[in-house]
Amino acid sequence: MTPLTDTRKKSLRREMETLLGPGSVLSDPEELLVYESDGLTLFRALADFVVFPRSAEQVAALVKLADREGIPFVARGAGTGLSGGCLPSQGGLVISLMRMNRVLEVDYENQIAVVEPGLVNLHLSWAVGPQGFYYAPDPSSQQACTIGGNIANNSGGPHTLKYGVTTNHVLGLEVVLPDGELMWLGGKTRDPQGYDLVGLFVGSEGTFGIATKIVVRILKKPQAVKTVLAVFDRVDQASEAVSAIIARGLVPAAMEMIDQLTIEAVEDAFGCGYPRDAAAALLIELDGLQAGMEAQAERVVAACRDCGARDVRAARDEAERQLLWKGRKSAFGAYGRVSPAYMVMDGVIPRTKLPYVLGRVNEIVAAHGLRVGNVFHAGDGNLHPNILYDPRKPGEEARVVAAGAQILKVCAEVGGSISGEHGIGLEKADYMPFIFSEADLACMHRVKEAFNPAGLCNPGKIFPSNKACVEVGPAYRPHPIEEKGLAQRF
Ligand SMILES: Cc1cc2nc3c(=O)[nH]c(=O)nc-3n(C[C@H](O)[C@H](O)[C@H](O)COP(=O)(O)OP(=O)(O)OC[C@H]3O[C@@H](n4cnc5c(N)ncnc54)[C@H](O)[C@@H]3O)c2cc1C
Repeated sequence: MTPLTDTRKKSLRREMETLLGPGSVLSDPEELLVYESDGLTLFRALADFVVFPRSAEQVAALVKLADREGIPFVARGAGTGLSGGCLPSQGGLVISLMRMNRVLEVDYENQIAVVEPGLVNLHLSWAVGPQGFYYAPDPSSQQACTIGGNIANNSGGPHTLKYGVTTNHVLGLEVVLPDGELMWLGGKTRDPQGYDLVGLFVGSEGTFGIATKIVVRILKKPQAVKTVLAVFDRVDQASEAVSAIIARGLVPAAMEMIDQLTIEAVEDAFGCGYPRDAAAALLIELDGLQAGMEAQAERVVAACRDCGARDVRAARDEAERQLLWKGRKSAFGAYGRVSPAYMVMDGVIPRTKLPYVLGRVNEIVAAHGLRVGNVFHAGDGNLHPNILYDPRKPGEEARVVAAGAQILKVCAEVGGSISGEHGIGLEKADYMPFIFSEADLACMHRVKEAFNPAGLCNPGKIFPSNKACVEVGPAYRPHPIEEKGLAQRF
């Protein structure tokens, strides 16, 4: 986009303040800095404005204004994305949905809820919990990420193995299309007529429009839950246990793997009770009817022991269960204990290839002179190698990016994919040819153009292109308070 002149910026700001009211538009460079990246801090770009609408009509008015002026715009939820998806890579408007965070309606009999996109994922389960319900998709970021962001990325989480990803829980969407029109896709019933446009929109990474209301399924809480920790001296034993459990006809709600480096970080940070000397731990959760639960747990324990587990134990009570889960769900944050920065990769592989691919991940990262911690949704074959690095060391970021690309190539070569749940965003756009042919990409492009013909809605994402407008480089910049000697970064 041609940079906006100061005069045009001022008049656009005035117009947006009239639309949204005071305190709803940011344009000072210091304030915009907060929105220069998502959870992937390798890529940064500044918007011209960050705006905070409170209703679908305000979102529609903003999008109409952007369309009229030819200004790019991108929706932003909580900014926990890990692929640069909500980056304003060509400037323009960041439309933050954080003020649209209400639960609008809950229909317990039909097991649905209608929510606004800025609702934090976990807050929906809190809202319906007292009535014995919950919202199943549970990204590890669920304390912060929004349902709108989950829709865009078709997010998964530990319980994807049994309950599926976001798309399996969405019935209808009110969306603002890139020309500012408001429309509904799907609705409140389970078998809508016509094309599955909800299915198309979910996972389109904010390139088809902005979701402003979302109809989701809510589920009855299971009668019983059993969480088991299995400890292994070798990573390949833990990997084999994952396939062995499924091969015995069991479908745990979750099967998460945590390697030694991650265990150390988590134990330093939270003391969750994972054995520090283990090569890998598997957190396995069963849920369902009380009847038969013990028998299922015994079969899980037997499968783990047959694969060489040195210890397998069930959480004794809810407090211990929560502590075990805290370790898993807070693992990314715990890496701060062992490294100044890390880059989370997100690839998928057939489960049976886990031992081979984990071995390759270690080789690739070591060849680049780096370290890696692995914590991932093993049951889905969804890997999260976390490559640790120091952004202040010249050349390290480039090595991280190169190692990440090689890892995704291996995932593709074994019949997997380059994203399980974090999306393609800006990060992996250039890797799309690892899994898609030119014809595939052209077809997807035509679908995008049907929704987003002017290309103003979240440009520069998903499709291979140059990343010229985006700053990629040393992520570390001293904050003014560091320069004044008032704070220090470790
Ligand atoms: C510690 C940590 C753990 C994580 N664990 C998981 C995990 O287990 N599973 C998983 O899937 N992800 C995980 N993530 C990634 C991330 O949390 C998810 O992708 C999440 O869905 C992003 O939600 P958000 O609200 O932060 O969206 P943002 O980062 O703000 O945006 C993500 C994308 O959604 C688009 N978007 C946002 N709102 C809308 C809307 N209303 N309409 C249209 N498009 C919109 C944006 O344009 C962007 O493309 C994790 C991230 C972190 C930091």
